[in-house]
Amino acid sequence: MWSKKGIYNKLNREGKSIRKYPYGDDPLKIKLFGKTRECSKCGKRKSILRFHWKSFYRTKTQKVRRIQAQCGECRVKYDNYKYSKTPEAYIRRRLMNLKQDCRSKRGRKKVLLTYKQLIAIYKRQIKRRGLICPLSGVKMTHTLGKGDILTNMSIDRKRSDKYYEKGNIQFVCIMANKMKNLYTNKILYDWSKNVARNLGKNYRS
Ligand SMILES: [Zn+2]
Repeated sequence: MWSKKGIYNKLNREGKSIRKYPYGDDPLKIKLFGKTRECSKCGKRKSILRFHWKSFYRTKTQKVRRIQAQCGECRVKYDNYKYSKTPEAYIRRRLMNLKQDCRSKRGRKKVLLTYKQLIAIYKRQIKRRGLICPLSGVKMTHTLGKGDILTNMSIDRKRSDKYYEKGNIQFVCIMANKMKNLYTNKILYDWSKNVARNLGKNYRS
C-alpha cells in the first residue's frame, strides 16, 4: 500500500496535479454546508461540490473552513473579467499560474521574481516599444476565458535553461513563445520567409 505522502510524491514525479480533490468533490463540503447551495450571483441552486473553498481562518480551538458564495462557474467568469481588465492584472494572474505550476508540476523552472519586480520589467518594455511583441511584431492582448488567444501576452524566459529571474524575462505573445520553445530565431525566420514566399498573394484565409 502507498502511504498518502507516497502517492503525492509519485504524482509529483509524473508531473501531475497533487491536489487531493482536483475536481472539487471533497465530501467535507457536504458534511459542513449541506448538499446544495444557491449561488449569490446567478441565483441557481447547485450541488455544494460546484462551489470552491474560501481561505480558512483559525480560532483558538479550531480551523474554520469557509466556502464561496458564488458558484464555481460564476467565480471563473468573474476572475476572467477581473484579470483581463488591464495588462497589470493579467500579468498578476499569469504569475500566480506560473507559481502554481512550479509547486504542482515537476520540471517547471523556478520563479524568482515578485509581482512588483515583474511589473517593473513590463513597464520598461512598454516604454521602449509599447504593447508590441518583440518577436512577432503583433499587438499583444490580455483576454482570459475566451480560449487559446495566440496574441495574448506571455512571460517568456529569454534563455530557457535559466529561471524566471531578473535579466532573463521579456513579454512576448503566446504564439511567439510557443514557436520559440521549439525553434531558434534563425529557423523561425527562414521558415516564415519560405511560407510567405510560397503562399504569397494567393493566400486566402
Ligand atoms: Zn452562479
